[in-house]
Amino acid sequence: LIRLLVRDDLGEGGEIAPSAEQAHYLTKVMRLGVGDELLVFNGGDGEWRARLAEASKRRCRLSVLDRTRVQTVGPDLDLLVALVRRPRLETIVEKAAELGVRRVRPVVTQHANPGHANLARLAAIAVEAAEQTGRLDVPEILPTEKLDAILTGWDPARRLMFCDEAGDAPPALGALRAAADGPWGILIGPEGGFSEAERDSIRALPGALPVSLGPRILRADTAAICALGLWQATLGDWRGA
Ligand code: SAM
Repeated sequence: LIRLLVRDDLGEGGEIAPSAEQAHYLTKVMRLGVGDELLVFNGGDGEWRARLAEASKRRCRLSVLDRTRVQTVGPDLDLLVALVRRPRLETIVEKAAELGVRRVRPVVTQHANPGHANLARLAAIAVEAAEQTGRLDVPEILPTEKLDAILTGWDPARRLMFCDEAGDAPPALGALRAAADGPWGILIGPEGGFSEAERDSIRALPGALPVSLGPRILRADTAAICALGLWQATLGDWRGA
């Protein structure tokens, strides 16, 4: 069944008026007709079965039927990713949504790609990935911040998996296995890597856990996907219920 993120509160017998863009997607792209069913979620009320009750040229109306899943939320995991070229950054956001991050924090570092992240575009990618992947929430895309501001304001209760390509960090799997779960962040650098000064500042963070992702230099998107998979498998929700 198609899944759709809606802004409305969800409850039995409720009515939803999707946006014009969503109405077009449902009726023209996915060719749903009156009576067809889909799944809706809003990030707080779980997932509900709904039926297309009305479909006209410009609008449609959904009737909310019954709840299919109660609201759950994934691990408290942030992905901090240095600004890389747009297509790669968009891939990283899509994969991070599939891999269960709760927030994506774009970071400006010394060698980061110049230019601004299109936060609205990244948020739309996160929604689409959340709908496809079956999540009941959507990762939040935070405003872009400079690395030193992030480190200065870092919550000491949150650990930071620092993916350090320098090659002297311990292997990620063993380091994660020895760590405790709880609020975490994962930090991925830009195409140009981290500067020595940045590396020193990050490692000075009390909760920093420098890790190696193997002997080869990975592209930022490859590194993000590998790091997220390792984290979910050792400390996250790939460990089962
Ligand atoms: N300086 C290199 C370059 O110019 O391509 C490496 C940067 S790499 C593309 C981007 C980021 O991916 C790194 O800053 C690091 O966070 C992560 N990364 C890549 N390979 C890694 C590895 N073998 N171990 C740990 N992290 C890695």
